[in-house]
Amino acid sequence: MSAPAVRRRVAVALGANLGRRRTTLERAVAALRASDGLEVESVSSWHETAPVGGPPGQPPYRNGALVGWSTRSARELLQLLQGIERQLGRRREREVRNGPRAIDLDLLLLGDVRVDEPDLQVPHPRLLERRFVLAPLAEIAPDLVLPGGTTARAALAALGDAAARSG
Ligand code: ADP
Ligand code: MG
Repeated sequence: MSAPAVRRRVAVALGANLGRRRTTLERAVAALRASDGLEVESVSSWHETAPVGGPPGQPPYRNGALVGWSTRSARELLQLLQGIERQLGRRREREVRNGPRAIDLDLLLLGDVRVDEPDLQVPHPRLLERRFVLAPLAEIAPDLVLPGGTTARAALAALGDAAARSG
């Protein structure tokens, strides 16, 4: 008999800045709920945010986050997320780096799993720097522990302080 699969906390970031953003984001959530790869527990509201990086003049984003549970590996979850991106019309081969996209799904965290490969890093390396990720995450899981032992709420507050000091 095989050992029971480990069930881990999972956090996913969602973003869209092309087409019907809210509809696409809601379809992505529905696809994740329908998949057997993860169990969705809470979904944030959709935050209107200015694009960060990438070519000038691209439209604003809607960003959100969800948390849940999964017994899958980080690699399996990346494949699941990329499959949903494709299903919702994302075509990476036609995109410029950080340019507009119909849907972006990033794996933020998977329990205490650490992956550092060219095409997959978990926890997501830019998680603590991105207000558009931390704000929705703190809305649904303020006490979620992030890399470095901080929480989503504290990491968001720390960004607020940094912005206040620099400007
Ligand atoms: P962005 O960095 O804005 O999410 P893309 O969605 O175009 O950009 O992703 C670029 C690459 O990031 C993907 O090809 C994917 O292999 C890689 N990647 C590395 N780690 C992760 C992760 N944790 N979640 C999602 N994609 C990741
Ligand atoms: Mg991505």
